[in-house]
Amino acid sequence: MTRFVSLSSGSNGNCCYLGNEDCALLLDAGLSGRAVKRRLEENGLSISNIKMILVTHDHVDHIKCLGSISERLRVPVYASPLVAMVLNRNKYIAPHVNGCIRVIRPEECAENLGVKFTCFEVPHDATQTVGYYVDFFGDKFLFATDLGETNDEVLRFGSMADHLMIESNYDSEMLIDGNYPPVLKNRIMNRLGHLSNEQTASFLKAVYHKGIRHVWLCHLSENNNTPSKALESAFEALSSVGARPGEDMELNCLPRCEASAVYVME
Ligand SMILES: [Zn+2]
Ligand SMILES: [Zn+2]
Repeated sequence: MTRFVSLSSGSNGNCCYLGNEDCALLLDAGLSGRAVKRRLEENGLSISNIKMILVTHDHVDHIKCLGSISERLRVPVYASPLVAMVLNRNKYIAPHVNGCIRVIRPEECAENLGVKFTCFEVPHDATQTVGYYVDFFGDKFLFATDLGETNDEVLRFGSMADHLMIESNYDSEMLIDGNYPPVLKNRIMNRLGHLSNEQTASFLKAVYHKGIRHVWLCHLSENNNTPSKALESAFEALSSVGARPGEDMELNCLPRCEASAVYVME
């Protein structure tokens, strides 16, 4: 059975696990190997099952522990062309990922151990940022974290997925009324920043189809959002297009600093 668990989600560190009895992948490496091991074991899962790592982009909250995790696991690390180049030049990461990095080009379907995955570019202010569409032995996932706005690619792959992890970073009012300096507010709100709850709601309305089983809202801001605001916004959007969150699908926020529940795909 396919299991998904987020181990950490947000600016403090991003890392999640998708696997079955035989193999698993890690998406991003913003959490230490020790914490990954412990949080997996607490949920009856094993770090040694991880056979590949997919990297979305080169911001520190996504790659800060890539060197140590990669050295420990010695598994392929997939990254887009420009991010692979940055990783290979990073003096803290390169010596530890030596020989493990595999370049994955946007829109190209890759396969490893029977897991099929495609990355696609999204607008964000890193060197290059991608989301992933993963066909995990028939269970279809979208992973889209850190994007300033949606584009045709994320809408296309989102429409094909039954399990969606999508950023819902900030509540516009909280951000505008909050005490961040104007330059930081602009960085978050512009098209290379992060998705607001309203943008995520529009995305969910656009990609909704009856096959959707899970929506996981990720990368919530600590200061400019609350889980209840993000959930309320997504709930309204999904309900308006005929979904019944809590009945025919699950809608959850991923916790910032701890593991989520383990979600089992039926
Ligand atoms: Zn991030
Ligand atoms: Zn980022």
